[in-house]
Amino acid sequence: MAIRVLPSEVVSKIAAGEVVERPASVVKELIENSLDAAATQIAVEARSGGVELIKVSDDGAGIPSSELELAFHRYATSKISDLEDLGRILSLGFRGEALPSIAAVADVEILTQTSSDSAGNYICLRKGEVVRREGRARPPGTTVTVSRLFRYFPARLKFLKSTSTENGHIAHLVSQYALAFPEVRFSLLLDGRLSLRTTGDGDLREIVSEIYGPELAQRMLKVERRDGLAEVTGLISPPASARSTRNYLSFFVNRRWVRSPLLARATEEAYRGLLSDGQHPIAVINVSLPAQELDINIHPAKAQVKFCHEQTVFGDVREAIREALAMTPMAARPKAAPFSRDSGRWQSPRMIMDNEPAFAVAQLPVMELPVLRILGQLASTYVIAEGPDGLYLIDQHAAHERILYDRILGQKSRKEVEVQGLLEPIAMELSPREEETLRSNTELLTEFGFTIEPFGNKSYLIRAIPAIMARADIAEIVAMLLDTLVNKESPDRWEDKMAQSLACHGSIRAGQQLSNEEMRELIKQLEQTRQPRTCPHGRSTMIHLSSHRLEKEFGRIS
Ligand code: ADP
Ligand code: MG
Repeated sequence: MAIRVLPSEVVSKIAAGEVVERPASVVKELIENSLDAAATQIAVEARSGGVELIKVSDDGAGIPSSELELAFHRYATSKISDLEDLGRILSLGFRGEALPSIAAVADVEILTQTSSDSAGNYICLRKGEVVRREGRARPPGTTVTVSRLFRYFPARLKFLKSTSTENGHIAHLVSQYALAFPEVRFSLLLDGRLSLRTTGDGDLREIVSEIYGPELAQRMLKVERRDGLAEVTGLISPPASARSTRNYLSFFVNRRWVRSPLLARATEEAYRGLLSDGQHPIAVINVSLPAQELDINIHPAKAQVKFCHEQTVFGDVREAIREALAMTPMAARPKAAPFSRDSGRWQSPRMIMDNEPAFAVAQLPVMELPVLRILGQLASTYVIAEGPDGLYLIDQHAAHERILYDRILGQKSRKEVEVQGLLEPIAMELSPREEETLRSNTELLTEFGFTIEPFGNKSYLIRAIPAIMARADIAEIVAMLLDTLVNKESPDRWEDKMAQSLACHGSIRAGQQLSNEEMRELIKQLEQTRQPRTCPHGRSTMIHLSSHRLEKEFGRIS
């Protein structure tokens, strides 16, 4: 179909809004155009977070010479022509807004060749106007180059995050499209580094391997359910390979990458009872539905869809994932306690207490706790203690978290972080986005006691860790720390978050039996923290039943 400007009755029905929010939005629109042009190879390149340059080349259908300028007109598209089409969209784009929106905020060059045109054509736009046109040879396909994004929009530039954060967004985005289109060969160069390359041979597990690493890819469970309204296919992680954020949930509806709280809930419901609080699965879920079951015209960046039969789709996805999980032996033994997954990591409470640095020098602690006498341990989870004014029940995990949190921040501010070198370095594989996060936070991680070095393609070696960390699951904890750093806000906030995460992972778990001496030590250290009554997340470390309350409860006084 030729490119034409949409009639006004269609334009008025289009969900309007900001298309180009950040460099990754440009990449998204360009990739979608390449996919709509049936490309089998898409090469993406970005420099300086995409602000200096974004270049997307494809081997797709190309744009005919006579339509090239028209492609940059607002609401000019080759993908739909009337209102009826709006209800049965099969292409990724349909509004004819992307190219003009991009040309309005950056310098754009496009070089394109169709299989029928005798030569290729090049045009160059400044502030949305074509300033140059010439014939140029190239194989069939299209290359769009976007430079100096937001050059005339300093306010927009200021809103962007650091280069590596923007690179991270781009890496994440390209990863998602690679997952959605395993039969397309993608490559991504970030500042000259090859960040991602897929083979395009159509195997989803292969793509997962490129993005999340071969070990995880091999463990992923196949999802396939075709008898519902929605066909559901994809790969999901076994419960033991969970992550600490929802960043690893990828949903594609009719091959469109979407954010969908509904699908996220369906997925998490399928895992219910298999993951502890705060854990999330890794999932790549393709939902395929008749076009009329779907409204995709509800979000300016086309990042959301509306299902006509939400509950049916919800059920289809949940069942598909449940079926996949049922095939694993893991599902047969749901986790009893939220902490069971971690048992074994914490070697012995003694270990940490032995490692105890000459304790608390710098600041005189505020003694908020009375002297407590240990009476025992309840349910391997709470320390029972007696004070001058009644009974104290202390959550051993929360208490230890508080102790470690204070210690970590104290050591860090004194630049005395205790480090343990690993005799055998631990290998881990990072996704393109995680690599970007690591790259931009190396210094911070070093300050906290980590040494992580590149070791070939996507592999990294953890050579040293903070001394307070127990030994097991280190790679998993590092992955989780990288997650917390993805969208870092002010430096204070993420230092705090790092310390919280480290404290949480280094501390004794509920379910851990403690000796009297260990409990005494724990309480002694808790007394010396600055806020012994709350854990770093703000939850209580203890419950106090005053003598007065006890007497009242037992009817000794009224
Ligand atoms: P939309 O994708 O909504 O149609 P765009 O502004 O993104 O609007 O693109 C306008 C038109 O330019 C598209 O409809 C398509 O015909 C053409 N076009 C854009 N990029 C490419 C490409 N990489 N290959 C072939 N045609 C393209
Ligand atoms: Mg488009």
